[in-house]
Amino acid sequence: MLRLKNINTYYGKVHALKNVSIHLGQGEIVTLIGANGAGKTTILNTISGVTPAAGGEILFEKEPVQALSPDRIVRLGIAQVPEGRQVFKPLSVEDNLDLGAYLRHRQREAKSRIRQDKQEIFTLFPRLEERRKQPAGTLSGGEQQMLAIGRAMMTRPKLMLLDEPSMGLAPLVVQEIFRVIDNLRRQHGTTILLVEQNAKAALNLADRGYVLETGKVILEGLSSNLLENKDVQRAYLGRE
Ligand code: ATP
Repeated sequence: MLRLKNINTYYGKVHALKNVSIHLGQGEIVTLIGANGAGKTTILNTISGVTPAAGGEILFEKEPVQALSPDRIVRLGIAQVPEGRQVFKPLSVEDNLDLGAYLRHRQREAKSRIRQDKQEIFTLFPRLEERRKQPAGTLSGGEQQMLAIGRAMMTRPKLMLLDEPSMGLAPLVVQEIFRVIDNLRRQHGTTILLVEQNAKAALNLADRGYVLETGKVILEGLSSNLLENKDVQRAYLGRE
């Protein structure tokens, strides 16, 4: 459903992505792993149009999307959950979810459908429903992450780009977030591209992975193979 071909992305003179080629099949969970600064976030931002590629091609459902604006890309069905969650802290949980549906309201989609989607999100995250009137800034880190995922779901994405959803969360909360990601794929068929520092947890969840080093893909494969790869173990999985 998504294919990046020889993508090159720059920040001024910094050559952040060097001939990156990756692909995701419908309904797959794929993870990007690599050290700080390897280019993982840049791949997500390049796909979502926030940091456009200078060269190469991005095909989404066989259509080139690399020249489109971020809001057009959202409308095609790609949603990004940025690092650090970035929920609107003074707004209530419910208002944050409504903001996720902003483009759908603008396109005059039936309010009943949007309401129904919100109810589905509350079913998936009962803790958000209990706190629907509460300002988002008063939620715990894990709850804010759930809200950020819920807000992205309100765009009805076919593909979700998740940037470090486990960052700063306690191990039990991380498990919960990963369960939610798994459910998203199982119940909604959402395809997921997951950036994670927590390589072991990410590979345990994902079908396949790409390993990045200084802006290049240096290794790719099934998660099971990457988990057994000695270089991956040494560099990213730590000693068990
Ligand atoms: P992290 O895990 O630390 O977020 P990452 O793998 O996601 O790392 P990127 O954030 O994609 O890495 O950064 C890739 C490279 O691009 C790094 O060398 C980084 O310093 C550089 N870079 C990222 N954002 C900018 C920017 N706005 N301006 C200049 N250089 C940038």
